[in-house]
Amino acid sequence: MKCPFCGSEDTRVSDKRETEDSSITRRRRKCLSCKKRFTTYEEVEKIELSVVKKDSTRQTFDKQKILSGLIKACEKRPISREMIEATVNEIEKEILNMDAKEVPSKVIGELVMDKLKNLDKVAYIRFASVYKDFADVEDFKKELDALIAKRAK
Ligand SMILES: [Zn+2]
Repeated sequence: MKCPFCGSEDTRVSDKRETEDSSITRRRRKCLSCKKRFTTYEEVEKIELSVVKKDSTRQTFDKQKILSGLIKACEKRPISREMIEATVNEIEKEILNMDAKEVPSKVIGELVMDKLKNLDKVAYIRFASVYKDFADVEDFKKELDALIAKRAK
């Protein structure tokens, strides 16, 4: 960081403070050459991720939506809020790691189902039945049978 007074690059952070908006960090710096002090603001680059829906419309990625979907699916199941939140964080991380500007809602849905499958079978079926929009009961039954067959093994 260059000193705005003398141009020296020999500066040191003397104080760091988060502003009210925690995505902005305010730093007091001191120039080691001219001893003057100045302030810098660093802003975290905001990630604008769009979710492409089935009908090709786009929505801003909203972690809260995944959370409420999971809470609904896990209702009355032996899954703590902490577990749900940890799962949502995992999902968010995986989505952000794709490093894409747009992610199809289908990809997110599959990701959620993948996690739920390991977390709780009932929650998984609940989520899948809403999300997958099973064309007919036969589809749903197949999914159930596959799960039951797995459990029987
Ligand atoms: Zn200076």
